[in-house]
Amino acid sequence: MNSLTILGLETSCDETAAAVVRGTPPGPGVILSSIVFSQTEAHAPYGGVVPEIASRAHLEILDGLIERALDDANVSLHAVDAIAATAGPGLIGGVMVGLTTAKALALCMGKPLIAVNHLAGHALTARMTDGVGFPFLLLLVSGGHCQLLAVAGPEDYRLYGTTMDDAVGEAFDKTAKILGLPYPGGPNVEIHAARGNSRAYPLPRPLLGRPGMDFSFSGLKTAVRQLAQTQVNVDDACASFQAAAIDILKDRTAHALTRFRQDFPQAPHPMLVVAGGVAANAAIGAALRQLAESHDFDIRVPPPKYCTDNAAMIAWAGLERFALGKRDPLDFSPRARWPLDASGDDGHSGKRQQGA
Ligand code: AMP
Ligand code: MG
Repeated sequence: MNSLTILGLETSCDETAAAVVRGTPPGPGVILSSIVFSQTEAHAPYGGVVPEIASRAHLEILDGLIERALDDANVSLHAVDAIAATAGPGLIGGVMVGLTTAKALALCMGKPLIAVNHLAGHALTARMTDGVGFPFLLLLVSGGHCQLLAVAGPEDYRLYGTTMDDAVGEAFDKTAKILGLPYPGGPNVEIHAARGNSRAYPLPRPLLGRPGMDFSFSGLKTAVRQLAQTQVNVDDACASFQAAAIDILKDRTAHALTRFRQDFPQAPHPMLVVAGGVAANAAIGAALRQLAESHDFDIRVPPPKYCTDNAAMIAWAGLERFALGKRDPLDFSPRARWPLDASGDDGHSGKRQQGA
């Protein structure tokens, strides 16, 4: 198959992004450009993403970002094979901005439109960066999602487990807020945790040791809130919280590694892929690496800039869908909820919202 060149747009939360990616499945692909404008500053005073501010910001800057992404890639709009945009799940106002822009470009340039599931973008990132083959086990850990999935093809997902309440990134962000650390909290919690004693405060580990692959973080968050009402050492509290989060992730993922082997006994080198913004956490990455090795799994954690929201992953997921011969109609409706596993629920689809 000839190499495909895809323009991708991402606007589902608080990052406005445009990218141009070239390649063929199974990858790796060439990321010709990837521009991410983070709206963090606009939302920081509110301690979380404000949907209305997010969609206005997407609207204001997306056009310019697309021009820059094409310039950086040295590719003209005429030369792209298709235009891909996140069509959900996410904050609906933002999704509408990106998808409508993609539709307008597709219409006036006579190019195919590819409507991309944001979660498929995260799921397929390790193919873009490392050419990982199917099937693989995916742990998706982000601000809006915490899921374990078997990925058997670009559009073939089996949901193993999901969170019953908060996403893990959300738990990091809320912990930071409770402890008075600036938004976005995840990276700040990691910095403080590195200086603290993880045994200082005993915190609960919901569902630990129970069968199944679902997650729960709300009990942990409540415990942090109670802890914060006492005289607390912030470094130690962060370290204790992060250790509890790691134990939960390891316990649930261990069950999924076993299940994946049963479901895919032919897979020669079973692979664990970790994606989503929380994959940027070095302590979590190290713990999962150890876990994977002890189960004879390979592990891939894409570089942090492709783990957090970006448009290169959307362009790549669009490329995989295009390569299957799929195209989407110009009246494709944006979706606030859109599970990857057609039979399952989409776990935690709410994404972060103001005060949440
Ligand atoms: P995403 O939703 O994929 O854009 O990822 C953003 C989420 O990842 C937010 O909840 C962040 O707090 C979280 N995150 C980013 N970096 C880290 C880190 N180093 N440790 C823990 N969480 C992180
Ligand atoms: Mg995301």
